[in-house]
Amino acid sequence: MNVVTTIKQVREQVKVWRQAGYSIGLVPTMGFLHEGHQSLMAAAKKDNQKVIVTIFVNPIQFGPSEDLDSYPRDLERDKVACEQMGVDLIFHPTASEMYMPNFSSYVDVNNLTDALCGKRRPGHFKGVCTVVTKLFNITQPDRAYFGQKDAQQLAVIKRMVSDLNFDIDIIGCPIVREADGLAKSSRNSYLSESERKAAVCLYQAIECAKEMIKQGEKSVTVIKKAMDDVISNQPLAKIDYIEFVDLASLASINMLAKDSLCALAVYIGKTRLIDNFIYQQQ
Ligand code: AMP
Repeated sequence: MNVVTTIKQVREQVKVWRQAGYSIGLVPTMGFLHEGHQSLMAAAKKDNQKVIVTIFVNPIQFGPSEDLDSYPRDLERDKVACEQMGVDLIFHPTASEMYMPNFSSYVDVNNLTDALCGKRRPGHFKGVCTVVTKLFNITQPDRAYFGQKDAQQLAVIKRMVSDLNFDIDIIGCPIVREADGLAKSSRNSYLSESERKAAVCLYQAIECAKEMIKQGEKSVTVIKKAMDDVISNQPLAKIDYIEFVDLASLASINMLAKDSLCALAVYIGKTRLIDNFIYQQQ
């Protein structure tokens, strides 16, 4: 496995692979890798002859009061996680390699970014779309892998790829969870022992909603109220949002419909966690 830090090095490697006719799968990450990331690598490995993982804590997708400086980093551990999965190349650039001092071009997807996390984190998806576009241009993949864990991100990237005619297949991968149901996340490392226990309330709220839906409940107000109750029962938790939206447009819905997404963001102490589930009527 090769670990490189410059765009030039990636381009040289990709050129060789392209000339040999190899297919390339890309897994963009911010590092501090866990089994969720590794599931993306496994999917990429299955579909492609070469797999590139990028590890870059992208400064332009963090708001001024967010956790850019404290975001967990451990390259040596990440190398082991990638090696285990048979990754061929890690691209681990510095911020200055990615953003020259006169950097001034951004990619911004409208509408889909108005709701959910986009509404609470202004500029976040502009930062995500810009860095993902750059990573696409640098690595020239056939396929790129994103987690359903970040449901809005996946929807926004798919829209961007379609709108801007990137010749890249975007593959969504299921959420990988801890044994108690908490979605795996690099940010889980911020949680104290008591917060970690409390964090399971996101999953409990999802399970509660799924059970109500199974019993035939369709009213978003009723389901949201029950989810709110589950989370509010947990003193360390503070709801940022619980939203039901149409899966394609991410527009808010009042009644559960054919393809709906329920997404939630909850603060556990100072740590903001997200989770979601998709309801697809058979
Ligand atoms: P991040 O490093 O948090 O930016 O995540 C990199 C990629 O891994 C994104 O496409 C995430 O959606 C995905 N990912 C993160 N956590 C999980 C998880 N628990 N299950 C599946 N995919 C995940």
